[in-house]
Amino acid sequence: MYSVTKTIDFCYGHRLLDYDGICKHPHGHNAVAEIEVRTETLDSRNMVCDFSDIKRIIKGWIDQAIDHRMVLRQDDPLVELLQQLGEPVYLLDSNPTVERIARLIFEYASTQGLPVVRVKVWETPTSFAEYSTES
Ligand SMILES: [Zn+2]
Repeated sequence: MYSVTKTIDFCYGHRLLDYDGICKHPHGHNAVAEIEVRTETLDSRNMVCDFSDIKRIIKGWIDQAIDHRMVLRQDDPLVELLQQLGEPVYLLDSNPTVERIARLIFEYASTQGLPVVRVKVWETPTSFAEYSTES
């Protein structure tokens, strides 16, 4: 198999509910997402996929959906307050962990027709989570 990986960085804020650790407080991350796309054969340009296409599709979505936003569980009491202040929020039906954000990006990439096999999101320079089709 051929494989290419595009790296995209973004910032997000979140907090974890029902969790006893420092991440229960609102805070932010400078995250780096790695999107791996894989194909068995190359296209007419001898490419798996043009890096600029991955960037346009995924970064375009990240920029408008989660970059510089609070990513919160939908029943977080902060949601209403932030919305009243006109602050953008991205809501999930479960705790907004980096694992969940990796899956979110993976699922978006899939809906856009990218043959994505793995999304890794670095939450800090030493911690990442990934979501992939592999077991
Ligand atoms: Zn965090």
